[in-house]
Amino acid sequence: MIAKEDEILQSYFGYSTFRPGQKETIQQILQQNNTLAVMPTGGGKSLCYQVPGMVLDGTALIISPLISLMKDQVDALQSLGIPATYINSSLTSEELKQRMQDIEARRYKFVYVAPERFESAFFINVVRRIPLSLIAFDEAHCISQWGHDFRPSYRSIIPNLRKLHSIPVLIALTATATGEVIQDIQELLQMDHVINTGFERSNLNFHVIKGKDKATYIRSFIKKHEKESGIIYAATRKQTDALYEQLDKRGIAVSKYHAGLSETERKRAQAAFIHDETTVMIATNAFGMGIDKSNVRYVIHYAMPMNIESYYQEAGRAGRDGEMSECVLLFSPQDIQLQKFLIEQSQMEEAAKQGEYRKLQAMINYCHTHSCLPTFILDYFSDNPSQEGCGRCSNCMERQEKSDITEEAQKILSCVKRMGERFGVGMTAKVLKGSKDKKISQFQLTSISTYGILSAYTEKELTEWIHFLIAEQLLATEEGKYPVLKLNQKSVEVLKGRRKVWMFTAPIPESETTDYHEDLFSALRSRRKEIADEKNVPPYVLFSDATLKELSRYFPV
Ligand code: ADP
Ligand code: MG
Ligand code: ZN
Repeated sequence: MIAKEDEILQSYFGYSTFRPGQKETIQQILQQNNTLAVMPTGGGKSLCYQVPGMVLDGTALIISPLISLMKDQVDALQSLGIPATYINSSLTSEELKQRMQDIEARRYKFVYVAPERFESAFFINVVRRIPLSLIAFDEAHCISQWGHDFRPSYRSIIPNLRKLHSIPVLIALTATATGEVIQDIQELLQMDHVINTGFERSNLNFHVIKGKDKATYIRSFIKKHEKESGIIYAATRKQTDALYEQLDKRGIAVSKYHAGLSETERKRAQAAFIHDETTVMIATNAFGMGIDKSNVRYVIHYAMPMNIESYYQEAGRAGRDGEMSECVLLFSPQDIQLQKFLIEQSQMEEAAKQGEYRKLQAMINYCHTHSCLPTFILDYFSDNPSQEGCGRCSNCMERQEKSDITEEAQKILSCVKRMGERFGVGMTAKVLKGSKDKKISQFQLTSISTYGILSAYTEKELTEWIHFLIAEQLLATEEGKYPVLKLNQKSVEVLKGRRKVWMFTAPIPESETTDYHEDLFSALRSRRKEIADEKNVPPYVLFSDATLKELSRYFPV
């Protein structure tokens, strides 16, 4: 006998098979077990409540923080012949009245509502009079203070739920949840069952690009991906405007989106992008939550975002159709200052700010790690990758050349120790360089034995190395806006010579490696190795691979 959920999948939604996690989730709901489903963006979370909503009697309430998305979802259901509607602040009072009457008359199988609706006694009074099949919490991470997009109104639903005569089965859905957030949602909504399909998106290629002119990079990237749709995320409205201007001037079909534009402008920009009238969308993080455009081929971050949760969610808007897509993060050291500034001047309470600084540190580590990038992200979410190293990210691509930097690492770590573990990255780099900066003499750091011990390197390189050591957890940071460097167990092992430190050469994106002379490149590379050995420095200190490739592109073999 064919199960009810399979029949509905085919007859209403026209799909032949469930995706990973869908069937398990649906079965839990049908057995009246409160369930949290964690699935990647595009994984098909909607179906997890839509199918049981069809099987069970009564009306399903779907709580969604995304007003922009409700209409799309409702339209989609209606086009399948399923009675659905939504209630949010965009309705006139007449419309609201009519819809509430229809809800009371039990006309709908699905009603989408904004979380604030539960604060309305009128609304509660209507829904307590009708049978409910289930209540779904979409984008459920918004309910947790540990989540990256906490909405207080979402949390206040919980006490208001008790005003219902009986609470139906609850289902929560999210694509971005750390262990902490999962636990929080479970406790708040009393969910014993968690279906977690993992976060892995095997069709995304991740790149971190450092030390390049961002605008030039973007122009050449867009040129190579001329006919493809892509999103470029900027950190601020100002950045968005400036970038838009630049690309627009060059005749690129580009839209922009940020909270400073009027609603009409935003709607127009969004529609143009979704309907492929423009190929590039430049936006702040105000754009995209819940936008279902399946053929986005790349997402570029013009600056480092505030945390890995946001990054993965934004980058994850690429390739929802399952086709290979690129996710590029353009990093510059100023990004760190900007994000710290944004956290500091936010309205958050002090404790919440400390949490944000901690998450920011993980993001900084992502930009400096030499491990496989998607593996790093999955580790962060305590998820396991299906294979060791993706082989396609910018770090995996540049694995051939490893340098032993144990000695330099020891010098850096002993400097941290000599400085009394009281200072941050910037000061430590200055001391290692032997900088004449006033602050250094103020703290009497010119007299310590590690002052100027790595003066052969630039302050920028030293900063980079310290960040690398932090990212590889060979050096710890104390939480806060100006994280103080601390030694940990691994640092001690390095200092005692029990642990070696390897560094890979600077990563380069695949797209830039296509048109150069392979032979010349490898000749330059071995010459570099010779010189490096003579000088007794790691090769990449002389020239990066990117520079060598650049050179081997212009000279005939
Ligand atoms: P999420 O909310 O997890 O990001 P959606 O629920 O919006 O994802 O679904 C993403 C896309 O996948 C939609 O276009 C949806 O129709 C499609 N989809 C969902 N489940 C299936 C399935 N079992 N078979 C085929 N396509 C599916
Ligand atoms: Mg969704
Ligand atoms: Zn990788």
